[in-house]
Amino acid sequence: MCGIIGYIGKQKAVPILIEGLKRLEYRGYDSAGISVISPPRVDEQSSLRVEAGNQQPAISKNGKIDIITVKATGKVSVLEEKINGKDIAGTIGIAHTRWATHGKPCDKNSHPHCDCQKNIFLAHNGIVENYQELKDDLIKKGHKFSSETDTEVIAHLIEEFNKKFDFKNSVLAALKLLRGTYGLAIINKKEPDKIIVARLGSPLAIGIGNGEYIIASDFSAIIRHTDQVIFMEDGEVAILTKENCEIVNMKNKSIAKEATKVEWSVEKAEKQGFDHFMLKEIFEQPDSILDAVRGRIIEKEGMVKLGGLRDVKEKLADIEKIVIVSCGTSYNAGLVGKYMLEEYAGITVEVEYASEFRYRKPLLNKNTAVIAISQSGETADTLAAIREAENKGALTLGIVNTVGSTIANETMAGVYNHAGPEIGVASTKAFTSQLSILALLTIFLGRQRGMSFVTGKRIATEMNKIPKLIANILKQAKDIKKIAKKYVQYQDFLYLGRKYNFPIALEGALKIKEISYVHAEGFASGEMKHGTIALIDKNFPTVFIAPRDSVYEKNISGMQEIKARSGKIIAIATVGDKEIKKIADDVIYIPKTLEMLTPLLSVIPLQFFAYYVGILKGLDVDKPRNLAKSVTVE
Ligand code: GLU
Repeated sequence: MCGIIGYIGKQKAVPILIEGLKRLEYRGYDSAGISVISPPRVDEQSSLRVEAGNQQPAISKNGKIDIITVKATGKVSVLEEKINGKDIAGTIGIAHTRWATHGKPCDKNSHPHCDCQKNIFLAHNGIVENYQELKDDLIKKGHKFSSETDTEVIAHLIEEFNKKFDFKNSVLAALKLLRGTYGLAIINKKEPDKIIVARLGSPLAIGIGNGEYIIASDFSAIIRHTDQVIFMEDGEVAILTKENCEIVNMKNKSIAKEATKVEWSVEKAEKQGFDHFMLKEIFEQPDSILDAVRGRIIEKEGMVKLGGLRDVKEKLADIEKIVIVSCGTSYNAGLVGKYMLEEYAGITVEVEYASEFRYRKPLLNKNTAVIAISQSGETADTLAAIREAENKGALTLGIVNTVGSTIANETMAGVYNHAGPEIGVASTKAFTSQLSILALLTIFLGRQRGMSFVTGKRIATEMNKIPKLIANILKQAKDIKKIAKKYVQYQDFLYLGRKYNFPIALEGALKIKEISYVHAEGFASGEMKHGTIALIDKNFPTVFIAPRDSVYEKNISGMQEIKARSGKIIAIATVGDKEIKKIADDVIYIPKTLEMLTPLLSVIPLQFFAYYVGILKGLDVDKPRNLAKSVTVE
């Protein structure tokens, strides 16, 4: 997930690109970079020479066309400062704001990336899954790489084909070799009147101006210039000159496309039409889960491939105990992980609040793996816990969303979530990507410990179906809003679930507390009768997570106990369960899946419910009071 912007026209490209990058910054802010085609100019006196990383001299000294590239680690403002006062005259350029997936955030990994000859520069959004094999092959052919990114292989591949084909056909040939996802903007010194853009799985739109085109990852960066937009679809490649926009498919067949008139505000465009980042992120979950598992599940072998664990694979085979350390939503994900790993991988798992872990005396040794789960990778409590675990000789691992973050750097190995930046303070898509990684880890560790091929395959197959199943639940957003309306006046809620859905009861309660400022308690449903049931009356509704699983009957009894005390019930149930309708006041249905994966589905209605209660109360759900996105203090 990153932001791409490109401009081709009569105006100076730099101000347009910088302004566009600022609009796209919410998509990633690890680093930013810009490449502009500079017209022939003889200017020996220019102060602008070589910027950071693998760039060109800024001004062509010999009167030839040049590409000027400037990169900066950090926010767009740092890039802007670097460019300030420098006269970059070109009217064709591309720019990128990065959210790192491969290679830490630093100048050399910043986009645009280039080929050996520094003719081809490109900005990329997405992941090239087979980059390692392509890279090995290109290195054998003599190519020299200057970054750790997956992206750079694309520039070298195009360079390779450009030896015999023109720019367009080189791009098409290179794209055919890529596995994974891309939104791409490419310029080439040898054909300096063009930008080529391509899309597969990552968004790209083309804004049509008067004698100019603006391409961007989303409409927020285009809106200032035009409301006429062509939304590219997967498998399409566009060749833009100042006067023309030719769109072809991967077989170089022309495609006729109509422009759409878009009437969104800038703010709405950033949120892709959603009212809040939280809602957008809830809706993104089919994609973020797909990104988390992409290239990692080998379904036919009932196996997973987790590149980040390659170096510790042998050590992991000897691990006798896992301790998961995390906070808040990540803690709840860890609890689901415990149930998964103990049942299917046969390893003892403890889940600890990171803030408690280092202040007591955890018993760890070299056969213990301590797994830190953190969206930001900067959570101070979790970081402290990991440092303590390392001191005690444990193997430390990270499940982290942010590449290059401190926890990712300090743990010995780990798996990235690839969920993209999460802007809403209340975690939604990061949570489900954590659950997905934990499911993959269960297959990985389970298969090391005698999990059968059949079981591995079953989990892998069901995991692959999850994005589609979530997409089905998302269709119920309006119905869930209606239910939220019915309950918006209540001050207290009980959330109950059992086994795999006990942690989801905790997560549902946390979500509504965070963004709706409503008191809620999450409990193991069997535990309710040991005390909490005293709270139940007609003013204390219960959200009961009761899918058709191995503890279904027990949950039904729990519901009866609540009903007997006049408590209202909103049930989360499996599609087709008519019985539950007779007991619960309201039912939200989720599709059927493997029991261990039900949390990935059952949490979605709870995210919606918390969101709608929050907005019906008129609250700022993206920035709830007293909270911060990443808690970097202990
Ligand atoms: N995979 C590329 C990188 O790590 C692009 C990431 C993005 O979409 O921002 O640089």
